[in-house]
This record gives sequence, C-alpha cells and structure tokens, in this order.
Amino acid sequence: MTKDELKSEILRHLAFSFGKDAAHAQTRDWRMALSLAIRDRVVTPWFESTRKTYEGRHKRVYYLSMEFLIGRLLQDAIVNLGLDDAAREACLELGLSYDQVLADEPDAALGNGGLGRLAACFLDSLSTLGIPAYGYGIRYEHGLFRQSFHEGRQVEQAEDWLSQPHPWEFERPEVCYGVGFYGTVREGEDGAHWDAGDMVVAKAYDTPIIGWQGRWANTLRLWSAQSRTQFDLARFNEGQFAGAAEPEALARTISRVLYPNDSTPQGKELRLKQEYFFTAASLADILRRYHSEYTDIRALPKHVAIQLNDTHPAIAGPELVRILHDEHWVELDDAIEIARGTLNYTNHTLLPEALESWHEGLMRHLLPRHMRLIEQIDDWHARTSKGRKMSTIDHGQVKMGELSFVLANKVNGVSALHTDLMKKTVFSELHTLHPDRILNQTNGITPRRWLRTCNPTLSALITDTIGSGWEDDLDRLEDLEAHVGDAGFRAAFAEAKHANKARLANRIRAIRGVSIDPDAMFDIQVKRIHEYKRQLMNVLEVIALWDAIRRNPGKDWTPRVKIFGGKAAPGYHTAKEIVHLINDVARVVNADEDVAGRLTVVFPPNYNVTMAERLVPAADLSQQISTAGKEASGTGNMKFALNGALTIGTLDGANVEIRERVGDDNFFLFGMTADEVVERRAVPDHAAEAIAASPELARAIEHIERGSFGPGEPDRHRHLANLLRHHDYFLVCSDFASYWKVSREVDEAYRDRDRWTRMAALNTARSGWFSSDRTIRGYAEEIWGATPAI
Ligand SMILES: *Cc1c(COP(=O)(O)O)cnc(C)c1O
Repeated sequence: MTKDELKSEILRHLAFSFGKDAAHAQTRDWRMALSLAIRDRVVTPWFESTRKTYEGRHKRVYYLSMEFLIGRLLQDAIVNLGLDDAAREACLELGLSYDQVLADEPDAALGNGGLGRLAACFLDSLSTLGIPAYGYGIRYEHGLFRQSFHEGRQVEQAEDWLSQPHPWEFERPEVCYGVGFYGTVREGEDGAHWDAGDMVVAKAYDTPIIGWQGRWANTLRLWSAQSRTQFDLARFNEGQFAGAAEPEALARTISRVLYPNDSTPQGKELRLKQEYFFTAASLADILRRYHSEYTDIRALPKHVAIQLNDTHPAIAGPELVRILHDEHWVELDDAIEIARGTLNYTNHTLLPEALESWHEGLMRHLLPRHMRLIEQIDDWHARTSKGRKMSTIDHGQVKMGELSFVLANKVNGVSALHTDLMKKTVFSELHTLHPDRILNQTNGITPRRWLRTCNPTLSALITDTIGSGWEDDLDRLEDLEAHVGDAGFRAAFAEAKHANKARLANRIRAIRGVSIDPDAMFDIQVKRIHEYKRQLMNVLEVIALWDAIRRNPGKDWTPRVKIFGGKAAPGYHTAKEIVHLINDVARVVNADEDVAGRLTVVFPPNYNVTMAERLVPAADLSQQISTAGKEASGTGNMKFALNGALTIGTLDGANVEIRERVGDDNFFLFGMTADEVVERRAVPDHAAEAIAASPELARAIEHIERGSFGPGEPDRHRHLANLLRHHDYFLVCSDFASYWKVSREVDEAYRDRDRWTRMAALNTARSGWFSSDRTIRGYAEEIWGATPAI
C-alpha cells in the first residue's frame, strides 16, 4: 500500500464511515479514519489464516486469561504491516501530526500489570509465528483505574476506554452463550442435571491480532455480559422506569470492571462469577468449533490445547468435565482424563496471599454442580495417583492452584528460579507424585512493540548495523556484538540513547513542569507498587543520597534522575503509603537548592503501557530490586535490558537469566539470594541489626521519623518507618547496605561514559533470548504440541 492509497483510504473512511468533511474533522476523526484504513488491511490476512487453519486441520491453541494489557493498537498494527512510513507521510500531506493522531488512542488497560501484559505479548508472538490461536478474556467496560495524585496521595478514577467507539473490535451478536449460576442439581438415572437458577448471556467481540509483516492474524475474543431477558416493557409501562432496566444492569455488572487488585482475590462472589462467566463462554465456543470439524470428543486433546493463565480460569477443569460427562455421557474417569489432556496451567506467583482459594460454601452456592465434581476429581486423583487424598479442598476452601495442577497436562513456571521454587514449595507434594508435569517457560516480551515500535532510534541503528530481520529473529542481535568494539558504533549507540532521553525530558518538562538534564543518569523503577518489589528501598536510597549530598556538597556527585511509576491497589494501604512517601520526598528533594542538578525525583502518575513505551527507551538504569524469591519472573526487566539499560538487581525471577546472558560484568548485582532470604528472616532483630550497621540507612529512617517529608505533620510517614524497624518482612533493611554500595559503583561506572555505553550495547546484543517468540516456541513444542501453520 502506498502513501497515496492510504491517504485516499483515510479520506474515504472519514467521509463514508464517519460522515465527516475533512475541513471539520478533529484529531479523533482522523485517528478513527486511519484506524479503519489500517484495519481493512488486516481483514484479508485474518480470513486467510482462519481458512488455512480449517483446511490444514491444525491443532488450535486457546489462551484463557482474565487480563490482556494490550495498550494502544494502531501503531502496532501499522508497524506490523510495514506501513509506518506511508502512514507518517500520508498524515503529513493531510496536514496532521502523525504522533498526535497516534496519541489520541486510549490505552486499553484490560489488565493490572505483568500477567496481563504477558498475555498481550503472547498474542503478538502467536500471530507472528503463525500458530492458530485464540485469546479469550473479558471485555471490561472499565479497565484498570486511572491514577492521579492529590497532595501526594493516590486518587483512583474510573477508566472509560469504551466511552468512544473502539475501532479494532467487531461485535458478534450471533456468537453468544448462556452462562448459568446458582440453582440445584438433580441426580437421576441418566446422570446429573444442573438447573441453573440464573443465567446471563456472554456476547463475543473480536479483535484481530496481526503478526509481523502481516503473514498471519489470530483473534482476541472478549466476552461482554448481557441480560437474557430483554427490557421489561410491562414494568416500564407501570411506571417502574429504573426497575425495568434492572435485570440488564445486574447482568452487565459481570463485565463492568477489572479488579484492580493483582495480589489478593477481592469482591469475592462477583470475581468468581467473572471467572466462571468467561471460562464457560470460552469453553462453549471452543467445543462448538470443535464439533464443526470433528466428531470424536475423545480426540479433543489431539486437536485442542488450552492454556490457563494463572488460576483465574481454573474452573475450566470442572466445567470441561461437566460438559463431557453430563452432556456427552463420557464416563467420569475418562472425562477427567480428556480434560486433563487438554488443559495446561501457568503459575505466576508463590506469594501465599495471591494463591486463589474459594470458600466451599460460596462455590457450592454459585456453582453447585462444579463443587460436586471438584469433590469427585479429588477422589479420582487420590485413587489414580497412589496419593493420599489431595488437598484441593482444605479447611472448607477450594484451592485453585491444586485444582489446576491436578487437571493439567503440564504446569509451568515463568522463570528458571520460580519453577525451581514451585517444585520445592507450593507444589512439592504434587511434584513428587507427578515429577514430569512441572516445566519452565521463562517469560518474554514482543520485540515488535518493545523495541521496533517504542524505540525507532535504536531500531534504525540496529538495522543499519546488522540489517533487518531481527524483528522476528531476535537472536540475530548477537551480530551487534562484533560492532561493540567499534568506537563509531558506540558513539551512535550513545547518541540514540541520548536522543530518547532528550525526548523524555521534553515531555516531563511539558507535563510535570520539572526540568531534567538528559546528561544525568536516568534511573527508572516502573511497575505495580508492592512491598515485595521494594520501591520503599529505592526511595530510602533517594533519601540517603539527598542526605549525603547535603553533607558533602563539594563532592563531584554523579547527577541522577530518579523516575518512579506505578499504581497501588486501592485497598493496599501500605502500597499507597509508599506512593505518598515518594511524592513527599520528591517535593522536598526537587525544591532543595543544595542538591539541584545532582538529584531529581519524578513520579508521573498513571503508569500504563503507553508510558512504559516512552520510559523504556530512555532508561540508563533499570531497578529490579525485589526480595529474592518473590518476583516470579518480571518482564519489565527484559524491556529495559533489550533497550540498552543496565540493571541493578537481585537474583530474583528472570533477573538471574538476564545476568547469565548479558554477563556478570554488565549487570549490577546486590543483595541476598532466595536461600539467604529464608535464613535471614529467622534472625531475630534482623532489621535493627542492619540499621545499626548502615549509617546511611539509619539516617534515612530517622529523616522519615523526624518528619522531614511531612511538613506540619511529622508523623505522616511514621507507619512506614515502624514497618521497617519492626516488621520488615521483605528485608529492605537487610539488603540496604549492599544496595547502597552497588549504587555508588553504578555512579562510578556512569562517569566512564564510553565503558557504560559498551555495557549497555552488550545488554541489547545479548537480550535476544527474551523475545516472547522464544517463549511461545517453547510452549508450542513442550506443552501444546502445536506447530506453525505458515
Ligand atoms: C511490562 C509491564 C509491567 C510488568 O512490569 P514488571 O516490572 O515485570 O512488574 C507492568 N505494567 C506495564 C504497563 C508494563 O508494560
């Protein structure tokens, strides 16, 4: 497609799809017209992919995920179709700013953080690799809340990405399924019958996901909840206007909001309803498609692989057994075996508070048939795996991790360390019974979005240096290594980073009114705010550094800009206090003449995919400082390393593998190992001991206690200081001295700019393995038994 063709397509859509004259069109109208012009180019490969899948009778992969943090889609589609230059020029000739048009798109935040973003990267890789696949999830009306700050405190507002038409989705009114809840189970001669007491309708919305160079497109199918009963005209005519609309409103509640809590199950019943709603609709859809092609239901595992992204869709196990046994009269044991052959489960966390469990009473009330089947599955497992009765049901709680494990063909961890810990901790008993079931697939990120699109400057340099083709074969970045010794290449690499930093500095000045120097080190920690991720340790370092600079103003300090970003779950009190502290510290530090030009703190609100795309290319230092053993993998760490940031990090999650690949010399390691963490926690007074041993830490905590950051309210942050002194579960104090020491080595390293650039370039050259294409190949070969159809 040429620029001229694209231009006329934009104008055609503007007039005929939106009824707008170019003379009166707003940015929104242009963006919609460009989106449809691009979407038109996606439809043919999309149909073609479906046709090839049917013709080739390829095995299909179904990725069930409660979250898809997809972000903006327009530029992604443009780049994948190779239309970047055409689109930019077409916009220019139409008198538009291309960047402004792209920036008009809302960021689809149908996820909380890493787990949802992983699902989005996987969709991109599945399409790029040409593996026939569907993503299934929920079309939330309101995605993750919008974050703003009021006097330093987090304020949450409803997000409303659907308040304007979403050009990427196709509504499928004909694809809908009833999903039942409550009711009773009748056990008769001919088996069990579940008479649901209530029913909502799941309606499908499809978004095509185009892969690299438009060779293949899969579908993201999201379910919206609708009422089964139509609007009640009789009630309305009786004057009950609100009552008439009530059934509709109640049913819609199910797909109304994404739960903003990414660590503990909340809103109990509604959350469980959401899980069953999208899982049941997805399975009904999968089986409808299966029956259109195959007759033998027993061959399901041969043609279908279902991946459960964490335990949120774990009810898929009992639901599939229910369909096979109650509706297809397959013997119970066989039904369980078929379900198990089809399902696979990815574990994402070992944090006890994040392992899902449901009250048996609630489960029996909401899903009576499923609860009965869960008991039978438990019995079956005890019978068939020479095990004692498993602990799927424990103290009146249904444990979804155990249930998912028992009904899975394969169970995977998301980094080598996490997989190892899974075997030793949460699933140790089940692992002994089923030693071949657990395997590792270290997470990855799509290089299309996280390098090619977000970092055009570096991408151009890479292509100039080693040619194109690295976008879907990221191991080719290794070819850069031969150029790292070349001073000209290093200068160009440094220049690309500097340009990205200057662009970010301009944005921050425009939006936040804070001036930052692109020559200073950009030190970034962006991710959900959580105690285990230890933003608190980072802000303690800020305080200690501020204090140290004031004590020794004559020293030649390495200028640093500390950038924070991230949302705290609305009910997570401590995380919100950390947000407040960071903002208060930023205000004090940025107003302090004594540290001006040496230390600046910025915390732009509302971290999301779009912000990540701006920050990642501009980072010098990536903070990956979780308590060892707590971060399952991390994917932010990979984005930064790939874009030439150096990591300061612990031996946690995928940091371990990043360090192995980029080399010890190109990674700033500090802190305890996962084993040492366990030992350290057993030491009484570990925090007091660590505070006594580190004058920097002691002074930083005293500043908090003295009220240095709570003007007129000295106790404002005392609770955090108390946590550090007396309940330091995440061992901030015990790791601080090591963190401080290595941070000063980072300062020193940054002073030798050429050496720094060499290290940064080696990070890029050696991060190709972290492509989600590699991860998806691993799942396809070792878990799904699926092969590309192209
Ligand atoms: C990549 C990403 C994450 C995950 O970051 P971690 O550092 O791995 O926790 C979270 N949110 C957004 C918006 C992301 O792009």
